[in-house]
Amino acid sequence: MDYDAGIGWHDPRIVPYQPLVMDPAAKVFHYGQTVFEGMKAFRAKDGRIRLFRPDAHLSRMNRSNVRLSVPLLDEELVLEALRQLILADRDWVPGTEGTSLYIRPFIIATEPLLGVAPSRQYRLIVILSPVGAYYAEGIRPVRIHVEPDYVRAVAGGVGAAKTSGNYAAGLKAQEEASKLGYAQVMWLDGVHRKYIEEVGSMNVFFRLGETVVTPALSGSILAGVTRDSVIRLLRHWGIAVEERSLSIDELVEAHRAGTLLEAFGTGTAAVVSPIGELQWQGEPQVIGGGVTGALAKRLYDAVTGIQRGSESDPFGWMVDLI
Ligand code: PMP
Repeated sequence: MDYDAGIGWHDPRIVPYQPLVMDPAAKVFHYGQTVFEGMKAFRAKDGRIRLFRPDAHLSRMNRSNVRLSVPLLDEELVLEALRQLILADRDWVPGTEGTSLYIRPFIIATEPLLGVAPSRQYRLIVILSPVGAYYAEGIRPVRIHVEPDYVRAVAGGVGAAKTSGNYAAGLKAQEEASKLGYAQVMWLDGVHRKYIEEVGSMNVFFRLGETVVTPALSGSILAGVTRDSVIRLLRHWGIAVEERSLSIDELVEAHRAGTLLEAFGTGTAAVVSPIGELQWQGEPQVIGGGVTGALAKRLYDAVTGIQRGSESDPFGWMVDLI
């Protein structure tokens, strides 16, 4: 689908996967004016093809559009377009345990003009890709490096939007952490350099005694759809959740005192990813004995059960395409 100033979004169409032909001066190449989303479709045991919380993903896409000065989408129209696109190739939606169809809508600024101003032309493209089970060998905790130097985003910037620049800003730290043997980077805030923000492409949760704590949406972290789902499930189960600022010092102190019982990340790809070790200033902090915590496992089973249709869906998160 394309956008032209004066016309608006127009011309939704399904075409075979193919390379794009673009003008080298297209604004997206120079000024990074682009927005994307990542969501999933699942095939239930009875054959139904269903999306997980498409409304939440599309409204977040429009919030990203506002921040990046990209014209708003008609969310219902895009949902209908996704329905037609997925059903056109419905055999690509895998049905075995843990598999799904990953959906990547993205918007690029296509106006060929080397001036720093919002583009007057855009294209919205959707890529579909079947994905295998994230935990083919069973759910396994990851080791995370807490980043002391590089900053991913600051409040007032674009950190709360799903836009490519945030990921470009994280590549160097990610590369250095992986050389040290860590799977992902945990980011701290850019002002005080001590408040926990998020992990790579996941939001993060800590079980501190009887309470679950997750960083508040500070303006520089992504409002994860899985984060919101996990918070709702925990509260539904009567477990206290605090959304607040949480410093790395408080976490290290809780670890010393034995009250840091579990840590896990949440995101569309992994759903819930237990964290077995945090490395801060050269000191590895092993969490929960380095094994998957009970709460992380319970949340993983609950969310994936709703997605697969083997559990009831108390919040109405699944949207049937057929
Ligand atoms: N933070 C960042 C930076 C991400 O890229 C993602 C993945 N979209 C998340 C958090 C988790 O968000 P969600 O649960 O919506 O996938």
